[in-house]
Amino acid sequence: MNIAISEIFGPTIQGEGALIGRPTVFVRTGGCDFRCHWCDTLYAVESRFKADWIPMNASAIMERVNQLTAGQPLMITLSGGNPALQPLEKLIMMGHQQGYTFAMETQGSKVRPWFALLDHLTLSPKPPSSGMVFHQTRFEACIAAAGAGTTISLKLVIANEVDYQWAKALADDYPQLPLTLQPCNLSPATPAEPEQEPCLAQLNDQFRWLVEKVIEDRWFRARVLPQLHVLIWNNERGV
Ligand code: SF4
Repeated sequence: MNIAISEIFGPTIQGEGALIGRPTVFVRTGGCDFRCHWCDTLYAVESRFKADWIPMNASAIMERVNQLTAGQPLMITLSGGNPALQPLEKLIMMGHQQGYTFAMETQGSKVRPWFALLDHLTLSPKPPSSGMVFHQTRFEACIAAAGAGTTISLKLVIANEVDYQWAKALADDYPQLPLTLQPCNLSPATPAEPEQEPCLAQLNDQFRWLVEKVIEDRWFRARVLPQLHVLIWNNERGV
């Protein structure tokens, strides 16, 4: 079965979340069931970019990954769009046979049995500023679908006070999950455009505000992280 591929690139480092700094190759799938106001990968979301998404089977994807890594296995990050929309089971099994591990990030709106094969599952439900609706039962089904060998972490993007309070309430329901908070990359006030670059000064202010909030509230369970790749490369693609 073919998988819609927006881009495959790396090796680079994971720029965010619990696996931040880890060397990885990104396999970004095309298509998403959401359209968040501040999405920074619209080229992997909106149907107007569909012509750019290449249908590839698992063998072809692993061939490309092996070209990039010169056959040295490392962590493959499945991203999107929403990679949970794609048939990824065979790819994960094939990659595992070759010594790769798999991390996936999804908003938790779709659950698949093959989540049990993942080594890392980052759940990133979207806060109110995204304009999307959070379905807690679907989110919990994603947690339940993870396997015994899957580490799960929670990554929450925060754009404003409403998001912050929402995140706090949600995280309190899942004390077992490692938690990362991340300032929003783009302004939620105006819907994002493809290839839009964030204002680094604004991002810095947002990051500082979030750190101060967490410390003031003594929310010591939370790790507050920026997006490293944005600090280094802005929203440039393929790095
Ligand atoms: S879920 Fe992620 S990829 Fe999909 S629209 Fe929202 S931010 Fe973009």
